[in-house]
Amino acid sequence: MCHNIIDGRYHTPCSHFVHMSTQHQDCLRPNCLFSRRHVHPTGCKSHSCIRLMALPVKNPIRISPAACAICVAGNPATVRPMES
Ligand SMILES: [Zn+2]
Ligand SMILES: [Zn+2]
Ligand SMILES: [Zn+2]
Repeated sequence: MCHNIIDGRYHTPCSHFVHMSTQHQDCLRPNCLFSRRHVHPTGCKSHSCIRLMALPVKNPIRISPAACAICVAGNPATVRPMES
């Protein structure tokens, strides 16, 4: 099934992942609602079609040796550490 790949920057000192963009990873299955190969583009009522997306995958495209902007501002409570 499809999932999103979340591109972002990982800050090593504070373990925060800062989201930059999301891309759709298409599984190319005809029975997946989220795929462009899905055979029922409008009004799918098939019970055999997949209606859930898999958990998104974090893709750190940049690794920063510095703390993120929120931690630098002294307010780390507003972001959660990267769940792995
Ligand atoms: Zn899919
Ligand atoms: Zn369908
Ligand atoms: Zn941080």
